[in-house]
Amino acid sequence: MKNQNYINGQWVDAHSGKTLGVENPYTEDIITHVPASGETDVNHAVDAAKNAFEIWRKMVAAERCELMNDMAKKSRDNAEELAKTVTAEMGKPFSEAMEEIETVADYLEYYSQLARDHVGRIVAPVDSRSMSLVRYEPFGAVGCIIPWNYPLSLMGWKLAPVLAAGNTIVMKPSEISSLSILHWIDIAGGDMPDGVMNVITGYGKEAGEALVKHPDVPVITFTGSVVTGKRIARLAADNLKKVSLELGGKDPVIICDDADIDVAAKGTSWGGFLNAGQVCTSIERVYVFDTIADAFTEALVAEAKKVRLGNPMDEATDVGPMSSEMQFAKAQEKVDLAIKEGARVLTGGQRSEKFDKGYFYEPTVFDQVTSEMDIVTEEAFSPVIPIQRVGSIEEAIQLSNSTRYGLGCTIFTRDIEKALTAADDIKSGTFCINNPLMENIAAPFGGMKQSGIGREHGIEALEEFREAKHIFIDYDHSNKDWWYGNEE
Ligand code: NAD
Repeated sequence: MKNQNYINGQWVDAHSGKTLGVENPYTEDIITHVPASGETDVNHAVDAAKNAFEIWRKMVAAERCELMNDMAKKSRDNAEELAKTVTAEMGKPFSEAMEEIETVADYLEYYSQLARDHVGRIVAPVDSRSMSLVRYEPFGAVGCIIPWNYPLSLMGWKLAPVLAAGNTIVMKPSEISSLSILHWIDIAGGDMPDGVMNVITGYGKEAGEALVKHPDVPVITFTGSVVTGKRIARLAADNLKKVSLELGGKDPVIICDDADIDVAAKGTSWGGFLNAGQVCTSIERVYVFDTIADAFTEALVAEAKKVRLGNPMDEATDVGPMSSEMQFAKAQEKVDLAIKEGARVLTGGQRSEKFDKGYFYEPTVFDQVTSEMDIVTEEAFSPVIPIQRVGSIEEAIQLSNSTRYGLGCTIFTRDIEKALTAADDIKSGTFCINNPLMENIAAPFGGMKQSGIGREHGIEALEEFREAKHIFIDYDHSNKDWWYGNEE
């Protein structure tokens, strides 16, 4: 398997020769090492992307579409092999890794076609025998920084609109899950013109920051934590770069008194424990109406206990290990703090004792939780669900809006008035009724408040990577009476 940087169509080591280890979180073995890249490597990758831009941007959209569809096909043809790499380095169940491959293929096909349909517009002329065209143009070499929780899906969310818009790309995967992206490039990228897609692996502080600071990278698209997002925005400001930031969340779910308790408990369990809680739109807070709180809590605890932890390659596994020792330690830290602050563990709250190794954390449910606790205000990114009781939809809305995050929100209710009132008044980029974590390739996805700037998916993502140019055409070709020397 390829374990080097991919620059200008070549596989190369870091200039310094430094590497970092990639660990399998199920076996705790180091699978391989990848380059710990630095500024020199980033410079080479950006040069390659900058040169390739002159070729890629001049290709007609249909040609780009063909090359992107070819990559989609190669992804699907090699899905199992690719999914095994995702599972090996990240720990998610194989079936979920397979969905990531499908996502990449789907996004490549969708955006390559969308970019053929949406190239610009004609607006009303300011004069007779004139025309105003608005044309969307690519920026150049886009820098793309990716987290580890959905390495290939999140790569696809960015790569597809970036390329379809006519830009080239330098990608910096997470140090925890670089192999999936290198493997994907190896499988799918061979027929692309050299330099259009480049990958440099390494740590955020070195490779990531060098990319953000590079003066020839006009756009940075970043997915990751709020802390890193703020740092990137500050660094990017020095060169007035455009940034799109897809950041963390603390998504609430509201369980109304008319909801089907069984459906709401199952949905909450899935939404909170999927991918071991390592989803940006994971359910991280529950606001349940007083009148059904006991029954709902009991049902949620029962669902949490049913979640099958295990070998991520095993079909019977619902949830694999957490993706790294660091993430596992963070889960324990969050739980310990919640207990210290007075929350009560109803189930979980510790490493799973069923396994000798692997970063397995038990699905955890808390009650006796208050709004000031860290477990309610800060993203945990762990399989941990705190429950609070509310007396009305107004209180649920007010509490839902009480954090600095605004990524997603879910409500379980059969009452459409309650659902749409909450949709009106809750500040979140996505609002789901009766089904958490739902996305649609054609509908925008992103965060309000400190959960981000910009949108992925839909036409909105394409617009993140293009800028508008006004082309004015005068087909009268005569002297104008307002030009100097033409006065009566
Ligand atoms: P992170 O911010 O630690 O790292 C994300 C990426 O940024 C990695 O590639 C890392 O190497 C790089 N990086 C770190 N410091 C950097 C710096 N100073 N300059 C440039 N790059 C730097 O986040 P993570 O732990 O990998 O991912 C988890 C976070 O991502 C969570 O907060 C989660 O909510 C968020 N996330 C958001 C979305 C979304 O779409 N909104 C999706 C997935 C994950």
